[in-house]
Amino acid sequence: MSSLFQTYSRWDIDIKKAKGTMAEDENGKTYLDFIQGIAVSNLGHCHEAVTEAVKQQLDSVWHVSNLFQNALQEEAADQLAAHSNGDLVFFCNSGAEANEGAIKLARKATGKTKIVTFLRSFHGRTYAGMAATGQDKIKTGFGPMLEGFHYLPYNDPSAFETLKDEEGIAAVMLETIQGEGGVNPANTDFLEAVQTFCSDKQALLIIDEIQTGIGRTGKGFAYEHFGLSPDIITVAKGLGNGFPVGAVIGKKTLADAFTPGSHGTTFGGNMLAMAAVNATLQIVFQPEFLQEAAEKGEYLLALLQAELNGPFVKQIRGKGLMVGIECDGPVSHIISELQTLGLLVLPAGPNVIRLLPPLTVSKDELSSAVGKLKQAIAQHTAVNR
Ligand SMILES: *Cc1c(COP(=O)(O)O)cnc(C)c1O
Repeated sequence: MSSLFQTYSRWDIDIKKAKGTMAEDENGKTYLDFIQGIAVSNLGHCHEAVTEAVKQQLDSVWHVSNLFQNALQEEAADQLAAHSNGDLVFFCNSGAEANEGAIKLARKATGKTKIVTFLRSFHGRTYAGMAATGQDKIKTGFGPMLEGFHYLPYNDPSAFETLKDEEGIAAVMLETIQGEGGVNPANTDFLEAVQTFCSDKQALLIIDEIQTGIGRTGKGFAYEHFGLSPDIITVAKGLGNGFPVGAVIGKKTLADAFTPGSHGTTFGGNMLAMAAVNATLQIVFQPEFLQEAAEKGEYLLALLQAELNGPFVKQIRGKGLMVGIECDGPVSHIISELQTLGLLVLPAGPNVIRLLPPLTVSKDELSSAVGKLKQAIAQHTAVNR
């Protein structure tokens, strides 16, 4: 019997080795890994530059606490500030912690308490993360929840009507493409309504880029596709290419809210993590690299549209290398079949297959994966006819 809390229902695959797009299990079976640790290894598994940077740091110094100067943290913060519309960075260890920090920052900076989020969102498992998440199943049994959250339907520009007389709104927080909620991209009308609401209410705009950031959608951050100007951006997953790390990026106008003693974490900005972040960002933020990821995303979408156009596939959507295939029914057995065929993919809700290949994926690997998807879906449709 396992000594682990059974908080996850795990597949019967134990990955022992991985490189780039490929992963190999304990039996030597190889897979195209279109999960990449859930949008974490955006440069592929064991990327040489990141591995080298962490190895070097391992022999110098691991951890000194945030009571000391930290040139690696300064460099990582400079990179994030230079490639976003934020100016200041706080490092933490995970996505939920980044959102936790963002909500604390928004409340303290505005002196207001209410946070508006959206149905089907996902913002993490801590108390603020759970409270921000617009899905009841995440919260069951854990109440009482942190107060002050309002949930609106996503992609409905008229939804803000219901809050037109509401006072004390500190921030609106959203994913521009909902990840766990089904790979749902925001529409332009909705995002315009978000910005109008934020300026009417003098509320901050927090964009959760934990899944969509670090090149995943073919831009450094997904909000850039939509011309948004967030006050706070949260990142984690892809930030260290597999090294656990998160960050809150904010505008310099928020500086007075995060002063010495106001917020902190022992491990945040740890030197091993920062070595991984610096190496990752030096590659991801190169314009040619992002351009190539965007092109591969378009190639993948076009190929999927052409090859999977049967009745079972309802919609194929996404941006860059974050793609959802919405099906006319549950996808869990298709995901198992794909494992047999040597392709690892995720669900996003019961009916959506989510593809998150590394940004370094080749076109051959993309077309091979599409072939496997076509085969698994065809088999499923044949069985169910
Ligand atoms: C994964 C995720 C989180 C939570 O990140 P953790 O590192 O698991 O705490 C928050 N928001 C979004 C959009 C995510 O995809």
